[in-house]
Amino acid sequence: MIPKTFKLAGQKWAVKIARRGMTGYGECDFTTRTIRIASSVDGKVTSDNERLQTFLHEWWHAFESVTGQDVNEPMAVLFENLMYETLLTMRGVQNEI
Ligand SMILES: [Zn+2]
Repeated sequence: MIPKTFKLAGQKWAVKIARRGMTGYGECDFTTRTIRIASSVDGKVTSDNERLQTFLHEWWHAFESVTGQDVNEPMAVLFENLMYETLLTMRGVQNEI
């Protein structure tokens, strides 16, 4: 579910799974528009679900940089958890427009 690239407000962002040089689960680089997701933390390989949650968290920081909105860390964690829950529980497809 994690993309390699995506657009946000018309700007292209890249997503990389990083094997080294990470201090936590993820980073959001505003200057290169790159989200980096750690392939492992403290020597333990991160799971697909952890990587998805990290992507959502870092997306929120990208949102912060693109919109100039003041987004604090607790809000990023809330967004990460609630959006993750929504993605994992989505059922059905709406075909009507
Ligand atoms: Zn954060």
